[in-house]
Amino acid sequence: MIKHSIALTKSKPGFWFIVNKGRLYLTSDGLVPQGTLANLTVAAEPEQICWLGEFKQQPCYLVVDHDQIADESSWHSARSLLTQDETLFQLAARALQVALFLQTHRFCGQCGSAMHLVNWELAALCSRCGHRCYPRIAPCVLVGITRPGQILLARSTRHKAGFFSILAGFVESAETLEQAAVREVKEEVGVDITNLRYVGSQPWPFPHSLMTGFTADYQQGDIVCQPNEIAEAAWFDLNDLPEVPPAETLSGRIIRQLQQR
Ligand SMILES: [Zn+2]
Repeated sequence: MIKHSIALTKSKPGFWFIVNKGRLYLTSDGLVPQGTLANLTVAAEPEQICWLGEFKQQPCYLVVDHDQIADESSWHSARSLLTQDETLFQLAARALQVALFLQTHRFCGQCGSAMHLVNWELAALCSRCGHRCYPRIAPCVLVGITRPGQILLARSTRHKAGFFSILAGFVESAETLEQAAVREVKEEVGVDITNLRYVGSQPWPFPHSLMTGFTADYQQGDIVCQPNEIAEAAWFDLNDLPEVPPAETLSGRIIRQLQQR
């Protein structure tokens, strides 16, 4: 791990985002641990602790590479915080992404030397060649496509039978979000869209995506699924949908927004 340290007041209570291997430690009540470092049930070295932000006027800290908690049932996906609180989920997303950044930037990708953390911004710097890295963020587009009374939903090859969502794909190098939306839809289901409208965005720490959401109108073309990505896709009546993502996710929010239009 890269060495870093923060000015830490041991007596001041805060929220503790303890991360190990992409998972988050939660109390038996499913909550983020709260209190002072001294009365936390887990021990942590100062260089394992990183400042994350504030929540309810209290400091939030990341504890990285924690491997002293053997109880497997204490480790959770950040998804379990989605339904608790949007800000808390966002802090958990930041904790997981920063932890992954620290874990994967110990050595310089350009010359192979050890890297160190910059003290005034979240970046890793190689003192030998000057190569500087920031936490990786992968932008992804979500597109909710409708035609009168119907929405186009697809089931990814990664999802269980019966679970459908709107189309999604990663933005490629030197591509606008809008171009990515049009290209992904054409590649995944073979249809053309028009009238693209921005809805919003959501950090998605699995492992480091930034979801951006759009709605669009169907223009032309028959559904032809991309074999490796899409297991099935179809037009569904907006009043009679299969199982879709929950309302706390951006895709779930877009689907519900289209239903209410
Ligand atoms: Zn270097």
